[in-house]
Amino acid sequence: MTANTALETASARLGGLSYLNPAAPEPWASFVEQIERVRPYLGSLERWIETLKRPKRTLIVDVPIERDDGTVAHFEGYRVQHSLSRGPGKGGIRFHPDVTLNEVMALAGWMTIKNAAVGLPFGGAKGGIRVDPSSVSKGELQRITRRFTSEIGVIIGPDRDIPAPDVGTNAMTMAVMMDTFSMNRGSTATGVVTGKPIALGGSLGRHEATGRGVYITAREAGRHIGLPIEGARVVVQGFGNVGGIGARLFHEAGARVIAIADHSATLVNEAGIDIPAALEHVAANGGLAGFAGAAQLDIEEFWQLECEFLVPAALEGQISAERAAGIRAKVVVEGANGPTTPAADDILRERGVLVVPDVLANAGGVTVSYFEWVQDFSSFFWTEDEINTRLERIMTGAFNAIWKVAEEKGVPLRTAAFIIACLRVLEARAERGLYP
Ligand code: GLU
Repeated sequence: MTANTALETASARLGGLSYLNPAAPEPWASFVEQIERVRPYLGSLERWIETLKRPKRTLIVDVPIERDDGTVAHFEGYRVQHSLSRGPGKGGIRFHPDVTLNEVMALAGWMTIKNAAVGLPFGGAKGGIRVDPSSVSKGELQRITRRFTSEIGVIIGPDRDIPAPDVGTNAMTMAVMMDTFSMNRGSTATGVVTGKPIALGGSLGRHEATGRGVYITAREAGRHIGLPIEGARVVVQGFGNVGGIGARLFHEAGARVIAIADHSATLVNEAGIDIPAALEHVAANGGLAGFAGAAQLDIEEFWQLECEFLVPAALEGQISAERAAGIRAKVVVEGANGPTTPAADDILRERGVLVVPDVLANAGGVTVSYFEWVQDFSSFFWTEDEINTRLERIMTGAFNAIWKVAEEKGVPLRTAAFIIACLRVLEARAERGLYP
């Protein structure tokens, strides 16, 4: 049997598809296409491009737990280290019923690009469990988190790979992960995860950081094209840690947030939504459904609202080619990871809509994660002012560097961010050389 037939036989057994198959579904295919788009700009480093199109290490784990009723349930978990060329792996953990290996691979890849684009000394990683956190009890969720942490414990660690919160996880999840890892190791390792509660070595400003970064990059984009935040109409999809806080910062800066959406409702109020009241409603009720300060709207009409800033801050693939054709925003600021497909990207560009890409717009979270990790290592903690000043400096610096490359090369901001990031990653790759 030739090597190729052996591979094909193995792949047939796996259901016909290698996990790297470019014909695989979104969003990994989107990530690979985004990488391909920078090929012409890599110069001699192009010979290394293939390393970006396959994750360095992919771990799939079984997560069995005993349920409260005595039965045994199994969940599927993943940790993907896309690249470790520039430093330890870094990226969040997602708990969501639709999590797949394909999705976690893409999210890990975007972390590699994000960390390099902003200049953080990390590779890129991501993890997830295919679970609906609202369908299990608190105790069950804790057992799932502990068993998962133990299973991926063979590849994570403060100097190896550092998880953080993502969709469906929060500071409490990180507390449980930190405790489990520390118990297995026999000593407290605060730096194994970021986004922890303050009492466990968490950082001031981390909770708000992603939303703050979205706001900062929107403001910078507006500054470059003469579009002030004050008085601007803003539409936000997703009203959690990213969208909710982002909306609050726009609101505080004098913008008019005219529409918001989450898993429970899509709401519009052209006069401007009272965002602090909406946040209070969500804190009390778990979602926007039932909020009285705005009218219900059809989701497809939501995407077509005329506005200055449109902020997708939920899941991947929300701006499809069809939706892109109807978008009437001046700027799209990607709070979510991978919200715009490559085909939609092209349509938005043709239609003159400026897109601030995820790998820049939502990098505020991992930037303050980096501050948290540094603080944990040195056991010396910074003030919130210090955190926010440094975050502001890194985000505006990265924005301007990416804007400059986009102008020089006549490419969209996403391609510019990918060019900067891929050159950094591949330079490290080339300098290190192939082992053995
Ligand atoms: N999950 C966040 C992201 O997608 C934060 C990752 C981190 O802080 O490591 O960027």
